[in-house]
Amino acid sequence: MQCPYCGGDSSVTETRVTVDGLRRRRVCTACKRRFTTYEKVGAPGLKVQKRDGELEPFDGEKLFHSLQRVAAHRPLVRDEDLRRVARDIEATLVDSGRKSIAWSEIVTAALERLGNIDPIAAQRLAANYIDESGTVRLGDAAPAANPAQLGLPLTDE
Ligand SMILES: [Zn+2]
Repeated sequence: MQCPYCGGDSSVTETRVTVDGLRRRRVCTACKRRFTTYEKVGAPGLKVQKRDGELEPFDGEKLFHSLQRVAAHRPLVRDEDLRRVARDIEATLVDSGRKSIAWSEIVTAALERLGNIDPIAAQRLAANYIDESGTVRLGDAAPAANPAQLGLPLTDE
């Protein structure tokens, strides 16, 4: 993102998830001025590595719909919660600055967030994941989630 003052490059210092998208605090790497940008959710360039090793563009809608399927018939889980989970994961991924991410990491992130809303839906997601994959196991053998990367607030304060 170009600095609006000098046109230099900027880096993100903070990302917040809002109802409409992402609010980012940025600092210009050239003139050091700070500014805020508002973005519709969307992570251009971020790729997801599928289980077969193929890369596909990250799609927040797809993630949301997967969560919807998992949480079907769970009255405690509202669509807006799932929407927020999907956005939160997207914001975390974008902020990490990575170009690609393994699907298993997204599942881990989703499980962690979903577990706060509805542990049973989270268990269902875990079960689905293990069934489909057959290789990666969640639970004890799951790679530890990095709490520092998953520390975004779920609500816009
Ligand atoms: Zn600048």
